Amino acid sequence: MRLFNTLSRTEELFEPGPGNTVRMYTCGLTVYARGHIGNFRTFVCIDVLRRTLRHLLGYDVRQVINFTDVDDRTILGAQKAGMDLRSYTDQYIAAFREDARALGLEDAEETPRATDAANIAAMGELVGALDRNGHTYRSDGSVYFKISTLPAYGKLAHLDHDGMKPGARVDADTYAKDDARDFVLWKATRPGEPTWDVVDPPGRPGWHLECSAMALRILGEPPIDIHTGGIDLIFPHHENEIAQSEAATGKPFARFWVHVEYLIVDEQKMSKSLGNTHTIPEVVTRGFRPSAVRYLLLSAHYRKQLNFTWASLTSAEESLRRLTDFLVRAENVKADGSHPAIAARVQEARTAFGDAMRDDLNTAAALGAIFEFVKALNSAIDAGEVGCGDLPRIREAFDEFDDVLGILSLRRAEDQQPPVPVDEIERLIEDRHAARRRRDFAAADRIRDDLAARGVLLEDSPAGTRWKRK
Ligand code: AMP
Ligand code: ZN
Repeated sequence: MRLFNTLSRTEELFEPGPGNTVRMYTCGLTVYARGHIGNFRTFVCIDVLRRTLRHLLGYDVRQVINFTDVDDRTILGAQKAGMDLRSYTDQYIAAFREDARALGLEDAEETPRATDAANIAAMGELVGALDRNGHTYRSDGSVYFKISTLPAYGKLAHLDHDGMKPGARVDADTYAKDDARDFVLWKATRPGEPTWDVVDPPGRPGWHLECSAMALRILGEPPIDIHTGGIDLIFPHHENEIAQSEAATGKPFARFWVHVEYLIVDEQKMSKSLGNTHTIPEVVTRGFRPSAVRYLLLSAHYRKQLNFTWASLTSAEESLRRLTDFLVRAENVKADGSHPAIAARVQEARTAFGDAMRDDLNTAAALGAIFEFVKALNSAIDAGEVGCGDLPRIREAFDEFDDVLGILSLRRAEDQQPPVPVDEIERLIEDRHAARRRRDFAAADRIRDDLAARGVLLEDSPAGTRWKRK
């Protein structure tokens, strides 16, 4: 497939390294808050990259998605909450897993936490290698990477090495774009902060160090095949990951760098600091289904910005329904026989879909190919030119599309699982009957309306009350 590589700023032919396995590292969530749908745009697009590699191209994938569970923000959050760092970050890791499942993300092979003992040890070793190779210096209890020791510094972000200010230091995990300075590898801790003694002096890892160490420890011999994240990670995070890894090992760190553009709101990045985020539970409370969110996040090419509005989520839901309605319609075809024209149309759709995905993961074009296909098949059904004998082929094509996009199977799983637990629905139906018996119709209506807002409709009949999904 052709994949855009941020390193070269061009589309390149992607093939796995030796063997058939793609080794891929994805920078995961900083677990100081529940991830929002902006974060999940990146994770959903990378999930589709993973699925394309596995299901369309037949490679094995070994993917690491880490949890950044120690950095400036997690430490501050834990302190504010009066909790120890591990319990504080545990909550957001659990929330991430829940939301990832709701959005149909395939499980990564490894989901390490930065503070796992083996990872902290690997960070210590990495700093040791950088010390030995002469890339570090110490100041005020912190260890810094001296970027003037690495002429290739800036190759990912395309920075001009000569224009960089030597000696200026930055301690934060994040800093201003285009401001390349010596960055902190290992931080002096302040009282009340977690500390490890794998580096001299003891302290805690900087964010950049964590990812390099986990990628090299878990995925093995560099270069790894693909390193991924959102576009904001190109600089400084990924530039610094490259610096640390390449200066320590003397080998290229990753062959492909894949970056997902922003989910935006009113021309601004969706981000916690701007207060314009929505989480999956919030979206569900508004009556939308995670499958519609997944559809929306895949409706644009991953290298284009995608503007989030509630109206766009509504139209994603409508588009998705057009697909599920078509599948119901197809299953109801009663005529016998099969048609060569349908077989040809199926083949055409599969080719168009595969070509779009192999063209730098063009999900927008792939969805377009599916809708063209549905349109053609609807006309063929209208004309009585589809028979039961055509159905297995049609089903197979949709299964193939869905292995990659993961939307319809997610929808089916949602259908089997009511948005409110069944025993709660049954209890509320009982409460509503009780309210009606005491002629408190306002309370009865409130129960019905609350359930409707949560996606469950009640239908009264002489035989009793039944519920169904909205
Ligand atoms: P963080 O927890 O801040 O490290 O972010 C986790 C991932 O979400 C990173 O890959 C970010 O680049 C990505 N990300 C954050 N905000 C957005 C957004 N609005 N759109 C797309 N990706 C995002
Ligand atoms: Zn990272």
